[in-house]
Amino acid sequence: MTPLNSSRPAGIVTHGGAGGPLDHKDGCEVAVEAGLAALREDAGPLEAVIRATEVLEDDPRMNAGTGSNFRLDGKTIEMDAAVMNHDLKFGAVAALRRVRHPVRVAEKVLLTPHLFLAGEGANLFARNLGFADYDPSTEKARKRYEKVIAFLAGHGDGFDMSRWHGIDPTPLWNYPEPLKEKLKEVTGPSDTVGAVARDGKGRCAAALSTGGTSIMLFGRVGDSPIVGGGLYAGPHGAVACTGEGEEIMRVVLAKQVYDWIGQGATPQQAAEKGVALIPQEYTVGIICISPGGEGVADNRTMPTARGFLE
Ligand code: ASP
Repeated sequence: MTPLNSSRPAGIVTHGGAGGPLDHKDGCEVAVEAGLAALREDAGPLEAVIRATEVLEDDPRMNAGTGSNFRLDGKTIEMDAAVMNHDLKFGAVAALRRVRHPVRVAEKVLLTPHLFLAGEGANLFARNLGFADYDPSTEKARKRYEKVIAFLAGHGDGFDMSRWHGIDPTPLWNYPEPLKEKLKEVTGPSDTVGAVARDGKGRCAAALSTGGTSIMLFGRVGDSPIVGGGLYAGPHGAVACTGEGEEIMRVVLAKQVYDWIGQGATPQQAAEKGVALIPQEYTVGIICISPGGEGVADNRTMPTARGFLE
């Protein structure tokens, strides 16, 4: 492994989701403070990104923990979260239900020989470790769900998909605004959350947490808990992605950005190259950090914040 050699102070970068409103920046700043407190205590970069992500999970405006999206039945909330440390330790949960801080459950997966727990196994794992039953639903998430359902059922002012008998309308769409744009009006930004941090020794870690996207089947898992897809960390740094999960997974985006940093790109250059890898019609955002720098890039908007220890 490359020797760690930090030329920058310990620090943290947080995000509130690709496509997210920039006025959520204040939430990202509170998360940075929580992460910096952990770095100040010398609790390590992993603890820093987890504490920052917990703060974002508690922010009801964000689609992670409290405020997570409903699945299409209007009852179920399934959440994904993951953590990865500089020593390649990785823990993830997917389709996790009724927990306040999914990112802490992901951390506990590090105690097992596994990397990833999903569904009922993840739920029981959390309960056995003492994670209390918690309802993460919010009125805002309920309203977002109702708009989506009205749209899909053709009762909104959108496109009536129910009459299409399974035919994909995408290639046939002939309204002035693209179907995807129309859907975005209904679904809004995804508001997923994430953090990357570096300690004073140049060791980096990443964490992500999400309630997924707005139109999801049961069991759909996005990129956020996928090693190398949504996030990656190692001796060269840490990367966390947000946006259209399927597109991010397809190109193994976080590992790709990480490798560019390892080959000598600055984190900013690597983040920009990573965003350019995703077709423009899909939303994407990347935050990354290395022993020597930080990078933030997106192709829409993305609330972010960063902070450093002196
Ligand atoms: N990437 C997440 C997912 O597809 C959503 C997001 O980051 O906005 O589940």
